Amino acid sequence: MKCALKSLAYNMYVYKPLVWMRKKKITVLMYHGFYQRDKIDGLESFGSRWCSTSEYEKQIHHLRSNYNVISMDQLVATLNGDQPLPDNPVLITMDDGYESNFTLAYPILKKYQVPFTVFTTTDFVGKGQLLWADRIDTAIRFIENPHLNICFPDGPEIAFDLSDLSARSLAAQTIRTKLQILDQSHREIVISALEAQLPKETELPPLCRPLNEEQLTEMSKGGLLTIGSHTVTHPNLTLCSENELQFELSESKKIIEETFHTECHSICYPGSAYNQLVTKASEKAGYTCGFVIEERSNSLDTMNPFTIQRLGISRDLSLPEFALRLCTR
Ligand SMILES: [Zn+2]
Repeated sequence: MKCALKSLAYNMYVYKPLVWMRKKKITVLMYHGFYQRDKIDGLESFGSRWCSTSEYEKQIHHLRSNYNVISMDQLVATLNGDQPLPDNPVLITMDDGYESNFTLAYPILKKYQVPFTVFTTTDFVGKGQLLWADRIDTAIRFIENPHLNICFPDGPEIAFDLSDLSARSLAAQTIRTKLQILDQSHREIVISALEAQLPKETELPPLCRPLNEEQLTEMSKGGLLTIGSHTVTHPNLTLCSENELQFELSESKKIIEETFHTECHSICYPGSAYNQLVTKASEKAGYTCGFVIEERSNSLDTMNPFTIQRLGISRDLSLPEFALRLCTR
């Protein structure tokens, strides 16, 4: 449906009966980080995982008015058979653990008193070890040379055009896709070579900064946040050895539980990379549920608790698009 048609449908409340018709479905939304429209540096146009605070506030207001936003604890209690969910349940999740979850999203969530879950990558929030995708984006955004050649493992050298922002965004996206299927050591070789080309004084862009322990503790004490796991190092879990898989699942759970004096019931598989080995290992590690990205909602009676589907909310989604997307998936 074209944008104008979606706006018309939204203004005529077409979504209202659709929301009512899917009241027994649970929709899980996936966000990452946030930015303010008046403070941008171009990096927010790389990929679709950033959301502006102005759109976010409209979305949260829409959720508050039309759905029941539930907490992870409510979902876990339902999966354990302890309590039914309200009609039209929506769960809000944020991946990775970006500082903007606290600085930009949390004030809005507090204003509307909406519960949310942050899936934290424990080395990212605990040690400030940047996520590999952000390292690529930062390098491609700030390398000064407009021409870039990269040698990928087992592949020919590829030339990238970095002459303007959209070319850089495309290059970063292509490189991320190519590295997604590599193991950590091969990925590291390519990223280190990219970073070696950055000017010495390059600072970490605000968009890529991690949450710290104090910020997570403050949100946790506020009663709206549940902390879930997004592993220790954000690897592709399907490429991990048995020992690595166990470490990523169990160690992250342990760190979250010990640091924040809470129980960690949920795991979100990085990059939505999972298979039966990963879901079984998650169950064995003591999780109650696992989350993936399949761009659709879930039927409570048929969903697999270890492959709960989520809808990714991307940067360019207008409120009418958001409203219609939510009730038609
Ligand atoms: Zn992630």
